[in-house]
Order: sequence, then structure tokens, then C-alpha cells
Amino acid sequence: METGKQTLFNKYHLSPEMNNERVLAVFTKKPMNFSVKSVDPKVRDAYISELEEDFGYRFRKVVRSAEQVHGCKVVAIDGDNLNAKPGPADGLVTDLTGVALEIRTADCQSIFLYDPVRQVIGNVHSGWRGTLQGIAVRAVELMQSRYGCRPEEIRAYINPSILSCCFEVEDDVVSGFAEITDVWKYCQKTGVKNGRQKYHMDTAAINRDALLSAGLLPANVLLSGICTVCRHEEFHSYRADVKATGKYGLNGALICLK
Ligand SMILES: [Zn+2]
Repeated sequence: METGKQTLFNKYHLSPEMNNERVLAVFTKKPMNFSVKSVDPKVRDAYISELEEDFGYRFRKVVRSAEQVHGCKVVAIDGDNLNAKPGPADGLVTDLTGVALEIRTADCQSIFLYDPVRQVIGNVHSGWRGTLQGIAVRAVELMQSRYGCRPEEIRAYINPSILSCCFEVEDDVVSGFAEITDVWKYCQKTGVKNGRQKYHMDTAAINRDALLSAGLLPANVLLSGICTVCRHEEFHSYRADVKATGKYGLNGALICLK
């Protein structure tokens, strides 16, 4: 079987810093496609089974929000709502073992959070709109208020996403970020196309610095440094795939306390 020949690293992006005996943190590659809208639920279930088999671990439950809406709502999953589907939300946190938190992205950032002291995890969908609304910090705040986590003990990992090499934006995005941060630290003018000024922006660095401002330690905020547009043969990329084929799939980001 072809699958048997592939190593885990061919199929998944795995951060050594986030994976240990208590945590499984996986970012899937092509051809797995976790789109809720365009992929049959049975096919997605089969991906989950394949992943469980690959890592020798069976999830008690995979929790995904009904819809990711580029907002900043973060939902805590506990014993009471475990079996109720979370409504639209872009962030999930839990302290339950065996419960995988799933976020789906293609160019947007998914950010894993893990507190090894309180044994709490989080997973956040942060495109530029979510970044502008500070969703990663909202998730950290919920981990603090709900579970007593301390920011200096929380680790964060930003999975492969569009990076500044490929994230071209216009004045609307730049002026949005100018309201919340020193935007020129993260943004460069690149040129004018069709009469419109273009910029390249580093939203991964914006999230990293927001997490540092929330009290996370520099050594605990890690970036994959992988651009999904540049590496679109390996990862689903909204920008690259739509341009090439008119459609796109989604990478699955799953984190689970074992
Ligand atoms: Zn790139």
C-alpha cells in the first residue's frame, strides 16, 4: 500500500516542540483535505482514522466548530458541551484528555497553544481578520480565566501559513493594523499594480508579538517559518490553488491531550 511507504513527515507537519508524551499536535498535508464544505464527512472521518492509526492513538472525540468565521470567539470545551457542536467559532480550548481540537486552514494561521503545567490546550484560526481582532490573545486569556493558566508557562506554535513573502495586501489591511500596532514594523511597500499601492505584511510576526505582549516568553512562541503559498505542492494554499485550479482544500490542524 502506498500509504505504508510514506513516513509521518511526508504526510504531516510535526513540531518537535509541541509533541510529547502528553500532547499530539499535527498539521496535515495534501492530499488530506479537511474542508467541511466540500469534503464528504465520511472521507474526513477516514482521514481521522488514518491519522489515529499513524500515531497509534485513538481520540475520544474530535471537536470542530460548525463554521470558522474570521472572528475572535473562543469556546472552552468541557464535560457539559462536549457532545454539543460548538457554533461558529475560531478558537477552541480544553483540559479534557482524548479530545482533539480541530482547526482548518489554507494560508490562514492555525496556532497551537499548550500549558504543560495545567495541562490545557488551545487551537486558533487566525487569518488577517482574526489577527486584527487578537484571537490568539483571546484564547490565552480564556486559558487564564477558565483554567488558571499562567502566560509564562504557555507554549505557542504557529503552523505553516502564508508568510510575508507572499502576503500581498492593500491600504485597507494596512490601515486596519495601523490602528492596533506599529504597522511599519511588519509591513513593506512593494510597488503599484493597476494604480493600487501594494504591501507585503508579516502577520505571523504580529501574532508572535501579540502573544509576547500577553506574557508568553520568547522561547515559548515558535513559528514554523513555512509559507503555504511557496510550498503549495505540499500544503493546501487558498491563494496558490485557486489561481491554479479555481478551487482549494484545507489543511487540518489537530491538537489533543493524551
Ligand atoms: Zn511565500
